[in-house]
Amino acid sequence: MTDVIHLLPDHVANQIAAGEVVQRPASVIKELLENSIDAKAQNIQVFIKEAGKILIKIVDDGVGMSVTDARLSFERHATSKIKSAQDLFSLQTKGFRGEALASIAAIAHVELRTKRSEDEIGTCIKIEGSEVVSQEPCITVTGTSISVKNLFYNIPARRNFLKSDTVETRHIVDEFQRVALAHPDIAFTLVHNSGELFQLPGTKYRQRINNIFGGKTNEKLVPVNEDTEILKISGFVGKPEFARRTRGEQFFFVNDRYIKSPYLNHAVTAAFEGLLKDGAYPSYFLYLKVDPKSIDINIHPTKTEIKFDDEHALYAMLRSAIKHSLGQFSVGPVLDFERDPTMDTPYNYENRPVSTPKIEVDRNFNPFRTEGADKNPSFGSFRKETGSWEGLYTGLNSETDGPNEDIRHIEFESEEVTGNLFGAARTGEAGSSTFQLNKKYIVSTLKTGMLVIDQHRAHTRILYEELLRSITVSAAVSQQLLFPLHLRFSQNEKELLKGIKEALEQTGFIFGDIEQETVEIIGIPTSVTESEVEMLLEQLLADFENEVPGNNFSQTDLLAKSLAKSMAVKSGNLLNTTEQQHIVNGLFSCKEPSLTPSNKPVFITLAVEEIEKKFM
Ligand code: ADP
Ligand code: MG
Repeated sequence: MTDVIHLLPDHVANQIAAGEVVQRPASVIKELLENSIDAKAQNIQVFIKEAGKILIKIVDDGVGMSVTDARLSFERHATSKIKSAQDLFSLQTKGFRGEALASIAAIAHVELRTKRSEDEIGTCIKIEGSEVVSQEPCITVTGTSISVKNLFYNIPARRNFLKSDTVETRHIVDEFQRVALAHPDIAFTLVHNSGELFQLPGTKYRQRINNIFGGKTNEKLVPVNEDTEILKISGFVGKPEFARRTRGEQFFFVNDRYIKSPYLNHAVTAAFEGLLKDGAYPSYFLYLKVDPKSIDINIHPTKTEIKFDDEHALYAMLRSAIKHSLGQFSVGPVLDFERDPTMDTPYNYENRPVSTPKIEVDRNFNPFRTEGADKNPSFGSFRKETGSWEGLYTGLNSETDGPNEDIRHIEFESEEVTGNLFGAARTGEAGSSTFQLNKKYIVSTLKTGMLVIDQHRAHTRILYEELLRSITVSAAVSQQLLFPLHLRFSQNEKELLKGIKEALEQTGFIFGDIEQETVEIIGIPTSVTESEVEMLLEQLLADFENEVPGNNFSQTDLLAKSLAKSMAVKSGNLLNTTEQQHIVNGLFSCKEPSLTPSNKPVFITLAVEEIEKKFM
C-alpha cells in the first residue's frame, strides 16, 4: 500500500490557521492595531466600510518595513518579535506568533504599502488568497498602511456566518476601545463608511477613558494605585452609585494588553461587596503590570486569556487595593474588619489629598411610601404611582377609546387592610374573583378548578404583544415631554441606539438630536414615566449588547421582549382587584397567553380532581 500522509500546501495551512486567528472583521482590526503598536506608531487610523466586511484599512506612522521584510511578513511563522522559545518568557511586544498577516492574506484581498524612514522608496505588495499578485516599489510616506478587502471572499461559509453590520461594528468598536484604552499615549481614529466614530488624541489614562465614554465619566472615577514587588496596579473603578446594569465597562489590562479574567473580576466584585444594588456591575479600568516571566499569554490564540503564576496573591492585592480606594474616597466603609492583615501593604498617606466627608442623600426615599413598595429598590420593580398606572392597562381596554379616567386615580391599598386571617397572602377584596398570592401570583377560579398566574410574566406577555403590534403595524401614542430629556450614552450604545431608533419610535419614543454628546428625547410612550426612561433604555441597550440579534425580525422581537420585561409589573408589587382583573383579561386576549416571550409558563391550572385527591 502506498503512503497516505502528505504535507498540506501552505495556502491550506494558512486558511486553517486563519480560522483560529480571524473570526470576524474585529479580529483583523485587533491584529493590525497590535502590529502598528509594536511598530511604535504614534498615530493610527482605522477606516472600515460596511462593518469591515468590504474594507478594513489601517494606516500607521510606525517604523515601516524593508523590501525583504515586507515580503516575508506574510509568511507563516515570520516574526521579528522573538528569536528563540526563551524569548516567549520575556515578551514586551503584542505579537510573537507570526501568524496574523499570513492568516489574513489567506482569506482576503490584501494590499500593503510600507516604508522605513531611512528609505527613499517604499514597497507595495498585493496578495490574494496567499498568492502574491504583485510586488513593486512605490512612493509612500514612512509607516505602514494595510488594506484588507472582501474578508472571507474564498470561504463563503465563514462569510455567511458574519452577523449584521450593527453587530460586527459593535465588535470592532469593542476591540478598538480595548486597544485605545491600553495605549492612551497613541492617537487613534476610527472611521466607518466615512463617518467618524472616534477621534482620540494622545493623552493620559483618565482623559482617554473620558474621551471614549463621554463627558460625565470623569466624575464617576475613583483612582486605584498599588505598588508591590510582584504587582503594580493603577487605573480607576467607577463609584458604586454609578454601577451599571451591564458588564460593558469592565476592563483589565495586563502589561498593556486587554485580558479577560473571571477570577480577577471576582476580586473586584468582592471589593465592592455591600456597596452595589442587586444586579449592578461596577465599572473598572484596571492596569496591572507584572513581570512578563510570571505570566503565560501563549495559552490562547487570540491572546485574551492569560495564566498568572500566583493568582491568589493577585486576587488579594487587587481586592484590597480597590477596597482601600473606595474607602479613601469615602465611597465605601473605611474600616474593614475582614481584611487579612498579612495582605496589607504600606500605603503612603502623606501624599494623598484630604477628602471632605460627603453627605449622601437618597433622593428616592419617600417616607410616605408603604414598606412593601420599597422592599426591592432595584430597577424595574418601580412601584407605579398614580398617573403611570395607565401603563398597566395599555392595550387592555381596547374597546374603549382612551385610558379610563378612573384608572388614573386608582390608589394602592395599604398593607394594613390585609391584616386578616390570611395575612399578606390574601389581598383580594371580598366578592372579587381574583386574589393576589404572595404579591407574586394572581389566583382566579375556573369552572373546573383554579388558575394561578404569575403576575410579572402575564404582564410581560401582554406588553410584548402590544409592543410588537405598535412596532410592526400601527405606532403607539407618545406623550410629549415638557422638558426634553438629555441622556448620556457611550459611543457604542449610541451606535446601537441608531440601529433601533426607528423601531423605538414606533413604540412611542420621539428622539431629537442624537448626534450630539447627549441623546435628546422629546417624547416617550404613554405607559412609561419620565424617571423610568433612562433605566429602560439602558436595559434595552444592554440586552442588545448581550443578545447579538442577527436580522430584522429578531431585532423587533428583542426590542419588544426587552421593553416588555422592563415595563411589566414585578413580583413583589401589590395589585388591587381591578389591576389583577385587568391583567387576567389582558392575558387571555393575547395570541399566546400560556407562555412568556422567552417561553416560560405564564400560568398553571389546578383541576378540581387534583384538589380533591389532596383531601383523600
Ligand atoms: P507577529 O506580530 O506575531 O510578529 P504578524 O503576522 O502580525 O506576526 O506580523 C509579522 C511581522 O510583520 C511582524 O513581526 C513585523 O515585523 C512585521 N509587521 C507587521 N505589521 C507591521 C507594521 N504595521 N509596521 C511594521 N512592521 C510590521
Ligand atoms: Mg502581529
